[in-house]
Amino acid sequence: MADLILKKAKEKSLLRRHPWIYDTAVQRVTGDPKPGDTVRVLSDKGRFLAWAAWSPASTLRARCWSWNEEETIDDAWFERKVREAVAAREPLRARTSAIRLIFGEADGIPGLIVDQYGDWLVTQFQSAGAESRRELIGRLLMEATGAKGVFDRSDAATRRREGLEIRMETLAGEEPPAVIEVEEDGVRYGVDVRVGHKTGFYIDQRESRLAAQQAAAEFRRIHGRGMRALNCFCYTGGFSLALLKGGAEEVVSVDSSEEALAMARANAERNGFEGRAAWLCDDVFAALRRMRDEGEHFDLVILDPPKFASSHYHVDRAARAYKDINLNGLKLLEPGGELFTFSCSGAVDVDLFQKIVAGAVIDSHMNVWATGRFGAGADHPLLMTCPEGEYLKGMRLTVRP
Ligand code: SAH
Repeated sequence: MADLILKKAKEKSLLRRHPWIYDTAVQRVTGDPKPGDTVRVLSDKGRFLAWAAWSPASTLRARCWSWNEEETIDDAWFERKVREAVAAREPLRARTSAIRLIFGEADGIPGLIVDQYGDWLVTQFQSAGAESRRELIGRLLMEATGAKGVFDRSDAATRRREGLEIRMETLAGEEPPAVIEVEEDGVRYGVDVRVGHKTGFYIDQRESRLAAQQAAAEFRRIHGRGMRALNCFCYTGGFSLALLKGGAEEVVSVDSSEEALAMARANAERNGFEGRAAWLCDDVFAALRRMRDEGEHFDLVILDPPKFASSHYHVDRAARAYKDINLNGLKLLEPGGELFTFSCSGAVDVDLFQKIVAGAVIDSHMNVWATGRFGAGADHPLLMTCPEGEYLKGMRLTVRP
């Protein structure tokens, strides 16, 4: 068993159960641990702090499994973690067959992502610790869920930082079909786990999609007609279909990817919504300006862009982009109209995002209320001792007279 000894006074975050140990905090390591091996983390005075996975190639030199000295990080330990994670998602099964089963640090397995789409599971191994238990985790997942197969989609850019190869292959059981069908809150979606974003679908937007569905239903009840909505950065049509399910009269969706739009069209057909959906292959920044110049109006606009800021270095540029789309999105609304606006950039926190959106409101010279906030669903919990896990946030705005 190797020991990882911290530099003087570097144990503070570990005592608060934050799971990351940066290279700059490490004084030395005894023995010769291999990537992913469990090391005992000690303070410079020899006090036990945690069990962690050794990751020599990463600036996150180790990530903690446990803070309990009595625990052994063996197969039974992983089995317990996997079962606990799966059990915690049970309440969601009544609503959906697309669920994040394991969300890394929050579920006590740093660097492991597992998403379930119906009978199939998709994994992403993003740390040396998770990677070195790959076969074990594949088997435990099959046992805990009864899935038909586990597909490993470990192509995330973060793997390079951990010194890991890109990998895409069936890890356990059968190979998944080209398109897996899932159902969420009464809407059917096709998911391509091989080429889709993330593991194929934005599972994290479930609650916001439901809010969109409900907004469309409410609009129809109050106004006696279906709403006209615009969904920007629509990807495979998540929000578009939710709005149509709720009873929207017409949904215009914009994305710059033909592949994503082809999936979105197929999703509309899957639900029999194609007659009320228009799909535009265009740059959202340009499309919003053009619609504004043409005097277009919508009852609801959704802005769910990709991550504009991949790190703190890009926050300024990202802020300008967020402000631009929010300003032009607002201008397509009249009093009573609503804007659902999101940011999935971890480097842009809730406060900053609100400031950016407020900047757009100020420039619009419109009277605007915030009537709600959005975030990732309960299967993407925030581990309270690891605030870095928070990334998705959104605001619901209403234009006032
Ligand atoms: N709202 C989606 C997820 C959005 S992902 C959902 O709920 O499923 C971001 C999408 O934005 C991708 O599909 C990508 O193709 C698209 N995109 C990125 N930059 C764009 C741009 N400038 N104009 C239009 N679409 C863009």
